Amino acid sequence: MKNELTITPLEEWLPVSDKPLVISGPCSAESYAQVMETARELSKIPQVRVFRAGIWKPRTRPTGFEGVGIEGLKWLQEVKAETGLLTTVEVAKPGHIESALKHDIDILWFGARTVVNPFTVQELCDSLKGHDVPVMVKNPLHPDFKLWLGAIERLHKAGIRKIAAVHRGFYFYKHALYRNQPMWEIPIELQRQLPGLPLICDPSHICGKRDLLQGISQKALDLGMAGLMIESHINPASALTDADQQLTPDALAQMLSHLQVRSMSGTAEFETLLEQLRSEIDKIDAELLDILAKRMKIVEEIGEYKRENNIAVLQIRRWADIIFDRQNIGSKLGLNKEFLLQMLQLVHKESIRKQEEIMGTKEEE
Ligand code: PEP
Ligand code: MN
Repeated sequence: MKNELTITPLEEWLPVSDKPLVISGPCSAESYAQVMETARELSKIPQVRVFRAGIWKPRTRPTGFEGVGIEGLKWLQEVKAETGLLTTVEVAKPGHIESALKHDIDILWFGARTVVNPFTVQELCDSLKGHDVPVMVKNPLHPDFKLWLGAIERLHKAGIRKIAAVHRGFYFYKHALYRNQPMWEIPIELQRQLPGLPLICDPSHICGKRDLLQGISQKALDLGMAGLMIESHINPASALTDADQQLTPDALAQMLSHLQVRSMSGTAEFETLLEQLRSEIDKIDAELLDILAKRMKIVEEIGEYKRENNIAVLQIRRWADIIFDRQNIGSKLGLNKEFLLQMLQLVHKESIRKQEEIMGTKEEE
């Protein structure tokens, strides 16, 4: 399904001259000096167009630093006046929106902990009615695609058209390399459903550690994301929140200089060859689908046959043999074994579903 939301193109409210577009600044505004010094350094980096800072911090435990509040908004006004950077803050209550707008904050964002709660999102959207302020929507903490999409739809219903989505990774119960798993397929699906929606990657909250930022930033650009939100601090070691993932403005400039910005389209010759290759892919996909449909027909025949003879749908031995055999053949053809396993599991799941339907034993979903 393609969603038809009218969304204002990013270039109309956030034009960039030096790609990629970068939003940077501290996780939290902590002091006047920290904010101003960080912003002054950042303003020397051509890609940085927007200064971010958490003013109200959603903390897991009440003992954590909860942000400086309204005073910080005055510092951001000064950042804008002195450096020309646009400013953005996280808003989680209608009162935050009111204060942020009163202090001329240019862009608002909804944080991951807010987007999990449709009541809160709706309340925020209600208080945004009648305002023409751009809003960025972070993905919810856990990988629930519809909550992310839903928050964007609620904003749209409230009349907001300058919307961007921010991919900040997803909580994963297992301990892993990243603080939040990227699960790239989720932002890719959002892009597929809302092709006009600008997508910005927040490598800081995905990585949780400075040394992983470069790889995730590059991957985001390779996927065609419109920009990056990266936390920076004049002295990361002393940061009151997210100290391990913040970069000094110098380190940020260094990292940006090592990123490859690839263009989304090429020369006419390149485009012609690309078109040819894509039409070959289209043909092969049609063949694949045809073969898959033939396979399913035979699965159905087997299902009928099993039903007539009162034989169980799933036969584990046969399934184990299929996996072993197809992985062997596939890997000799240069296909990745894990990919083959996942693909076979998916095909098998559908085959079982079909046979259960035939047997009349399928559970209601
Ligand atoms: C932040 O950007 O500082 C923040 C709290 O992020 P998230 O909502 O993605 O956790
Ligand atoms: Mn943070």
